[in-house]
Amino acid sequence: MDNNINDRIQADIVIIGAGLTGLSLNYFLRNSGLRVCIVEARERAGGRICTVKEKNEPTVEMGATWFGPKHQNLVALLRELKLEAFPQHMGTTAIYEYMSTSPPQMVRLPENEEPTYRIRGGTHVLINTLMQYLEKDTLFNGREVRDIKTENGQVRITTGKETFVAKKVVSTLPPHLFLNKIQTDPPVPENMRELMGLTHTWMGESIKFGLTYKTPFWKREGSSGTVFSNTGPVTEMYDHSDFEDEHYALKGFLNGVYYSLSKEERLEMILAQLRRYYGKSADTYTNYHECVWTKEAFTHSPYERHVLPHQNNGHPEYRQPLMSGKLYLAGSETASQFPGYMDGAVESAKWVYQQLCDSL
Ligand SMILES: Cc1cc2nc3c(=O)[nH]c(=O)nc-3n(C[C@H](O)[C@H](O)[C@H](O)COP(=O)(O)OP(=O)(O)OC[C@H]3O[C@@H](n4cnc5c(N)ncnc54)[C@H](O)[C@@H]3O)c2cc1C
Repeated sequence: MDNNINDRIQADIVIIGAGLTGLSLNYFLRNSGLRVCIVEARERAGGRICTVKEKNEPTVEMGATWFGPKHQNLVALLRELKLEAFPQHMGTTAIYEYMSTSPPQMVRLPENEEPTYRIRGGTHVLINTLMQYLEKDTLFNGREVRDIKTENGQVRITTGKETFVAKKVVSTLPPHLFLNKIQTDPPVPENMRELMGLTHTWMGESIKFGLTYKTPFWKREGSSGTVFSNTGPVTEMYDHSDFEDEHYALKGFLNGVYYSLSKEERLEMILAQLRRYYGKSADTYTNYHECVWTKEAFTHSPYERHVLPHQNNGHPEYRQPLMSGKLYLAGSETASQFPGYMDGAVESAKWVYQQLCDSL
């Protein structure tokens, strides 16, 4: 839908962001009778859930991948949506590099008491399933929200393309991104600005890569594809073959300091490391995928001060609505349980859903 800047779209609730929080909230509100619009800056939905898939290749996760039985909000949602999960193949051994002057060692992995799981078909199956619950013409992609103002007892949300007028607005942006990207009138109180400025966006600095292969040679070599390295550039890596075990991949994390290199340079560094473990087989990849999350302007924004991983995630202040009760700050980083994770996103959506039901 291409509207002029003067277009005003009326809704009961505007959700900013079509990631897991925004789409879960829309799902919970599906029978509420309220008109809900979702405004999303990217051309795609999913936010930090981003699955890539080429023909005859496995799905490769550039964002969220794993969860466990303790993630009860996510597990309940998957069950409700009838989505299947399967255990991450860890194997019994891993390649471990302790330091650059010692050769890589094969180590035995301890018994995994808490196995991790992946969603069958890729994490995007969850996003695609939630999108089936969108009413027609209620998802507005490619719209970056820039400001939110109260106006005649309602709230006005402006993008570069059109204006939305609603009773309530829910932001699902990581709080630090909200602080840097969205102006509000009345302004966000100083204590909240301080908190947002020091709230870490989980995985916002990470670099993820995936290499797809026709054969899982890493299993033949007596290892499992699991790698832990203190020297890098690949710090962790895992087998990423599909549930059916028909398409094969390795997927891992690169040390975030390599964000400024070119894609080709990163690929060459990864291959050089994998050749140390697997010889020339490493070069038989069919595709290379990567995502440098620091360069994703709708996830990451630079911090002014040093912020630790998960710092202020789940801070109770995020449960106080702003703008006289019209603006809710949701999103995984605001959740009271497992903030930063997919489970936190679902928990946060459930919490806002309850608030909206009580107040509208
Ligand atoms: C590399 C990586 C690996 C991860 N691995 C795991 C894992 O294994 N397990 C796990 O549980 N979690 C993992 N996570 C975390 C998980 O992805 C997040 O917790 C979850 O997806 C957050 O969902 P959200 O909807 O709260 O936020 P987001 O997904 O960040 O959604 C926010 C949305 O807002 C949009 N947006 C931003 N700015 C604007 C604007 N101005 N106007 C309109 N829209 C805007 C964004 O485009 C985005 O779609 C990982 C994350 C990353 C990046």
